[in-house]
Amino acid sequence: MMGPQHALSGAATWLAGSWVAAQFFDYPQSATTIAVGAAVCAGGALLPDLDMSGKVTKGQGGSTVSRSFGVASLFVAEVIEKISVGVYTATKLSKDPDRHNGHRTLTHTLPFAALMGFGSIWLCTRYGRWAVIGILFFMFGFALRGLFDKWADRAGWVIVTLTSGAAAYFAFNFLPSENRGYPMIGLAVGVGCIVHLMGDIVTRAGVPILWPIPTGRRMWRMIGLPDTFAIEAGSKVETTVLRTVFTVISLVAGAGLLAPALLKRFDIEV
Ligand SMILES: [Zn+2]
Repeated sequence: MMGPQHALSGAATWLAGSWVAAQFFDYPQSATTIAVGAAVCAGGALLPDLDMSGKVTKGQGGSTVSRSFGVASLFVAEVIEKISVGVYTATKLSKDPDRHNGHRTLTHTLPFAALMGFGSIWLCTRYGRWAVIGILFFMFGFALRGLFDKWADRAGWVIVTLTSGAAAYFAFNFLPSENRGYPMIGLAVGVGCIVHLMGDIVTRAGVPILWPIPTGRRMWRMIGLPDTFAIEAGSKVETTVLRTVFTVISLVAGAGLLAPALLKRFDIEV
């Protein structure tokens, strides 16, 4: 899938999950907390594609997420891609094909999603305020690129960076204090990464979802849908059907979450 759909699927999953948590598990959250969680999850749902670099010196190419912060993030993507291809080559078994590009390898695994999730929780609890603001900054930047892709392309990386920084700072200050510190941020990052893997599994190329469990002398078996069912990246089905489905889920879940608070505010009994 392409960046915008990944981001949207992340936001939709988080909103739907928050609705289920509020409805069935008696776990209500404030509107701010839900919005921050949805944005972080949207950003996290782009994170695995940070293994797709472009032309660093020209500031071109790469995935949506690699372009988030201009040349800086393109450079990071280049490094991650090289590390990924290195890990692939070092751990591949006899039946795994040779690879010269690391896209859809290391960062497209469940251990990576767990590392990002627990790593974020660890950073937040260990370093507090600045770690929280830092993680929010990156996730918001990714989310802006994904959810408002046309705007972000027009605005350019400087505006995206400034907006993300300001949003991260304000979000931190507006979040209820007992939620800072913060398993929720880590959970949203980790869930976002897993949602990304699910989004790539429905394409033909697939992802190495079983890694590091070897199957039939292959460590990096790509699991995807068979051709007949597979969704082609960037196809009409993806950009219209999936986009609509994710938007509807987000809106319905969002309405379900906000409705009780609104009804209460206007003193409407149900
Ligand atoms: Zn991907």
